[in-house]
Amino acid sequence: MTRARIFFDVDDTLLTWDHRLRPHAREVIGALAAGGFAVYLWSGAGVRWEVAWAHDLARHITGCFEKPLSRHRERLAGLGVPFVPDHVVDDDEDIVRVFGGTHVPAPLEPLHEDRHLLRVLADVAARFGLPAHDGILHETT
Ligand SMILES: [Mg+2]
Repeated sequence: MTRARIFFDVDDTLLTWDHRLRPHAREVIGALAAGGFAVYLWSGAGVRWEVAWAHDLARHITGCFEKPLSRHRERLAGLGVPFVPDHVVDDDEDIVRVFGGTHVPAPLEPLHEDRHLLRVLADVAARFGLPAHDGILHETT
């Protein structure tokens, strides 16, 4: 059973300005999937399965959708998103305000010091709980 549906933005959230995978993206998404969450990618630029494949994330991803850039809630159905996200992760504050979630600033140099995505695990644990036995939070924070 899915604990909650977690939607990640792609550009400036999971990917850097030059299309590198942001630090901790793979471990955070893998931890969420292993913890029973359904993880989705969505993007204002369209359905981005190629990002999931290129960065070895696809086995953890339940689906990809196009993301509404305005009137977020009203436009979900029109974009073929069949449910409301439970938690969004995005560099855009507006969409986080609408659905609830974790706002992360766009990545900056020095990239290897970027730890913003780790906050997603703490926020998701606080909102929905994480399985206690797997020690995800202890491994990554
Ligand atoms: Mg973005």
